[in-house]
Amino acid sequence: MRSGWIPLVDNILFKYADAGRHASVYFVRDKDFVCLIDPSVDERHLPEGVVPDMLLLTHAHSDHFWAIDEYRDAMAIPLYLHEADAATLADPLLNGSVLFGRPLVPAPASHLFGDGDSIALGDTLTLKVIHTPGHTPGSSCLLLQQTDAQKPLALITGDTLFPGSIGRTDLAGGDQAQMAESLRALKTLLKSLPADLVLLAGHGPASMCGRELQYNPFLNAPHD
Ligand SMILES: [Zn+2]
Repeated sequence: MRSGWIPLVDNILFKYADAGRHASVYFVRDKDFVCLIDPSVDERHLPEGVVPDMLLLTHAHSDHFWAIDEYRDAMAIPLYLHEADAATLADPLLNGSVLFGRPLVPAPASHLFGDGDSIALGDTLTLKVIHTPGHTPGSSCLLLQQTDAQKPLALITGDTLFPGSIGRTDLAGGDQAQMAESLRALKTLLKSLPADLVLLAGHGPASMCGRELQYNPFLNAPHD
């Protein structure tokens, strides 16, 4: 395996370790099937032999998708995105690329998902969508599950929930009231998940669901 990729869940989920100022990049694989999540690094950074079959965004901010069109120009590959972020993706002000001095208008997503959807990855894995608007209208958390297994494998939280923190709501498309509502729903979800379930955010190190439930101040606001 080319250096720079850390296996986080068995031989199934990997994180790019050196994303620098970009967001965290993950890929999930089921045998030969590979789903690349938040592709902010291009193909040259992928391990040898790993060829993505689909791309998926936790939300449509450009630091999470810099390399998106390079993959789609090179291969016919579907892009999955929450339906409420379709407009975010299409607007360089809303997707934030203008702030980086690189205005981008990527081609639209080929597949729009909604809250509660289950997205199949290969034969044995699914991503369950939990819509958590607030950072952007379509921000979503994704619960990675193995078919026929009781225990999920990971919770991917994008820029909604970070270790000890949350995503900002003051960018275009952000909404503080929606974020508060999403955090209430997430807290209920986290209580239903195993405390040692790995939690993977769009920036920063990995955490665990139980740790965030206990120590993340934004999940323990005084009104709760
Ligand atoms: Zn973001």
